[in-house]
Amino acid sequence: MVKKLQIAIDGPASAGKSTVAKLVAKKLGYIYCDTGAMYRAVTYAALKANISLDDDETLKNLLQDFKLEFVPAEPEQKVFVNGEEVTQIIRTPDITNNVSLVSAQPSVRQDLTHRQQEIADNGGIVMDGRDIGTTVLPNAEVKIFLVASVEQRALRRYKENIAKGIDTPLEVLEKEIAERDYKDSHRKISPLVQAKDAVKVDTTPLTIDEVVNEIMNIIEERNH
Ligand code: C5P
Repeated sequence: MVKKLQIAIDGPASAGKSTVAKLVAKKLGYIYCDTGAMYRAVTYAALKANISLDDDETLKNLLQDFKLEFVPAEPEQKVFVNGEEVTQIIRTPDITNNVSLVSAQPSVRQDLTHRQQEIADNGGIVMDGRDIGTTVLPNAEVKIFLVASVEQRALRRYKENIAKGIDTPLEVLEKEIAERDYKDSHRKISPLVQAKDAVKVDTTPLTIDEVVNEIMNIIEERNH
C-alpha cells in the first residue's frame, strides 16, 4: 500500500496557501485542513461572546464547549461553530484584523494544535497554516514554505475582495497584510517561521498551476 503522507504548507498571509493546498489535496485524494479557519472560528466565537481577545483564561473556558466542524462542499468546504455556519463571516475584515491577537494566546494555540494533530494522525492530509511544519506536524514528510511579495499578496486579496463586493484600497490591504505578518512572526508561541527542513517556494512570478506542479514535484522527490 502507498504510504499516506502528512504535507505541511506554511507561509505568510495571502501567499496562496489555501488555494494550492486544496488543489494538491484533490490531486492526491487527501484531506485538506485549513488551520487558519480554525483560528478565525475561535475569533468569531470570542467576539460573539464579548470576550476580550487577549483574555487567555476566558478563551480557555470558551474552548471547552467549542464544537468545530468542516463539511465538504463545492466550491469550498463549509465551517460550522457549535452548529452555526460561519464559512463567510470568518473571512470578513473584522475577523481578519483581530485573529492575530487571539492566535497569540497560549490556551488557544494549545487547544487547536491538539485538534489539528488528531485530524492529521492517520496521514493522507494537506494542512496549511503558520506553524504546521514547526510545531503541529514536526515529522511531516513534506514541508513547504510559500512566500510572495507584499504587493503581489495585497493585489490578490484586492481582486478577491472586489469579486465579493468589498472595496478596500490597495494601500490599506498592503498595510493590513504587513501588520498581520509582523504580529504572526513576532508572537512568543509558535511564530510564523520557516521550518529548517521546509522547501521555500516563491509564488510571486508563478501561476497557481505552476505552484501546484512545483509542490507535486517536491512531494514526488521526497517520496522516493
Ligand atoms: O491562513 P489565514 O490567513 O486564514 O490565518 C488567519 C490567522 O490565523 C493568521 O493570521 C494567524 O494569526 C492565525 N494562524 C496561526 N497558526 C496557524 C494558522 C493560522 O496562528 N497554523
